[in-house]
Amino acid sequence: MVDSRKPATIAVHAGRPDRAADQPVNVPITMTSTYVAGGELEYGRYGNPSWAAFEEALGELEGGRALSFASGMAAITTVLDLVGNDALVVAPQHSYTGTQLALGDLEARGRLRSKLVDITDTEAVVAACEDAALVWLESPTNPALEIADLAAIVAAAHDSGAYVVVDNTFATPVYQRPLELGADIVVHSATKYISGHSDVLMGAVVVGSDELYGVLKGRRDLQGAIPGPFEAYLALRGLRTLPLRMERAAANAVELVRRLDGHPEVAEVRYPGFGAMVSIVMTRGALAADLLVHKTQLWLHATSLGGVESTFERRRRWKAEPTTIPEGLIRLSVGIEDIEDIWADLSSAFDRLG
Ligand SMILES: *Cc1c(COP(=O)(O)O)cnc(C)c1O
Repeated sequence: MVDSRKPATIAVHAGRPDRAADQPVNVPITMTSTYVAGGELEYGRYGNPSWAAFEEALGELEGGRALSFASGMAAITTVLDLVGNDALVVAPQHSYTGTQLALGDLEARGRLRSKLVDITDTEAVVAACEDAALVWLESPTNPALEIADLAAIVAAAHDSGAYVVVDNTFATPVYQRPLELGADIVVHSATKYISGHSDVLMGAVVVGSDELYGVLKGRRDLQGAIPGPFEAYLALRGLRTLPLRMERAAANAVELVRRLDGHPEVAEVRYPGFGAMVSIVMTRGALAADLLVHKTQLWLHATSLGGVESTFERRRRWKAEPTTIPEGLIRLSVGIEDIEDIWADLSSAFDRLG
């Protein structure tokens, strides 16, 4: 029965206490640093019932075993630590800035070598996989919204004995389950769509194999990049409505893309065809983009994404953003408000650019 459950059902029902008389409906927030000796948990850095409930739900949604982390970056740096010294990591030329900075930092310190690739060029990625120990994928990429041929790249990477990691933050398990496509590890910034309310920082790793689970759990135990129980509770509470929120946000994104296409102030609209992240390139470049993000009342000028509210920012305002991202590119995280209000606010801001 469990195997046939659909994502919307899993999100609502997974990670609940047993259905016995007087059991609570939700796993309580367990505030404790230690446990009575002799059991499985022993100490607060090794496990917490509030993490376990979140992990059960996310694990079932992704089709693997999940581990909670303090943030997306805590999950990412723990996974990058899997490779041996001087090993080659293949990664997208466009990806989450923190991932790029972490790779650059590890490379500068001689810990590993990295090779950045255009993930839309499957042939080039496959060729780059040859000497790789780990292939890092993000699809869609941030903020270029490029798509990788995951199945083809997984096959090539596995031929070389490399791990394949997919940052599934943008797609979420609602639209993409990389473990089913053969990936070894999925990472999430649960800060974004999983939690969905811009009120928590948390990360997660999901793996298909018990062996990798053991290795990564061991690293988490030692490195200590663990979330608080309250964060895990909030993340699970948010996850309950993930499929519902994604459905609404994606419908809004599709309609917004339709209306933005051909707008005189918009030279290019990038949308991968699913999810709720949209990037636009302003016809009149960086200056018009900077003006636009200050002229709205509903759209919130802020970094981050995946909340119920619509947010946007010009990505090149960040020094670390690659120069291959256009200066006038605005990344939009489309929220779940009424599309007519979303559009009225944005289109009025366009009209007042002058
Ligand atoms: C935000 C983000 C991260 C980092 O997550 P934090 O929770 O901020 O540490 C990693 N990958 C992607 C795609 C992100 O959007």
